[in-house]
Amino acid sequence: MGKKSRSGSNRRLIVYLLVLLIAACVYYFIQSGPAADIPNPASTPEAPAETDDGGTAQGELTVYVIDVGQGDSILLLSPSGKTMLIDAGESSAFPAIDALLKELNIKRLDIAVATHPHSDHIGAMEKVIRNYEIGAFYMPPVEHTTKTFENMLTALDELSVPVKKAEVGSTEPVSWDDAVQILVLSPFDVEYDDLNDYSIMLNVRFKETAVMLTGDAEQTAEALALKELPNRYFKADVLKLGHHGSSTSTSDKFLAKVDPEIAVISVGAGNDYGHPHDETIEKLKSSGISVYRTDENGTVKIVLDGTNVKVLPDK
Ligand SMILES: [Zn+2]
Repeated sequence: MGKKSRSGSNRRLIVYLLVLLIAACVYYFIQSGPAADIPNPASTPEAPAETDDGGTAQGELTVYVIDVGQGDSILLLSPSGKTMLIDAGESSAFPAIDALLKELNIKRLDIAVATHPHSDHIGAMEKVIRNYEIGAFYMPPVEHTTKTFENMLTALDELSVPVKKAEVGSTEPVSWDDAVQILVLSPFDVEYDDLNDYSIMLNVRFKETAVMLTGDAEQTAEALALKELPNRYFKADVLKLGHHGSSTSTSDKFLAKVDPEIAVISVGAGNDYGHPHDETIEKLKSSGISVYRTDENGTVKIVLDGTNVKVLPDK
């Protein structure tokens, strides 16, 4: 009897322990979940998600030619997620620039560039400087007398933004992302007659792909660069046309040396200057170059993966 009772209580104890074990297992499984502890790198800000439309994934150089009406503003994201803003349109352009930066969750610009001091390139720069942390600010060695220019300088000074002089052969080369080479092709240390010719001209290269960004450089600046620099500095898959597609920029020789497959023109609909000029459009089309323009396509996004180039216009 005593034996039987002991074996009965042992069985109850075993059943009790089994139930406890099963309960513990169920509890653990519910708490951890099948994949809850696996980090999703795509959801962290350091590694932006790759989207179906070829978005801002790691390992790509992404360029946004932002639709700011008549003017220029271009955002670049490097393969490791570094940011660079080249120009900031007229003062009315700030909402468009701000909206894109917010959409991409960008709070800091590692580099900001004012290609030259005209208002359609630096109009919203003061607001950009006051609203975003800037790692380094590049501008050409030329002054302008406008309030817009002075306000930009004041903001740079008040916020202690490091200002560097970008020109060919500068002792402060533009360094941004180890995987990306930035060649400064203009301006040179000379006196140009036209403020546009002081534009900082950059060839931004990622592996086998490149984009040429020219500000408002005219044919004078193009010619000097072509004369002084080796041909290999000019080749690019994408050319952001100088001076909004004006016929005073993009000489035949310059276009032949860049030899792009894709041209992008940053221009406002119905602008007072007739930009882009018909001669320029003809020249591009007869060379078989695909043309995108912000007045017709909205913001033009370009993704360079080191081998191929993909263009994703808003419309
Ligand atoms: Zn301009």
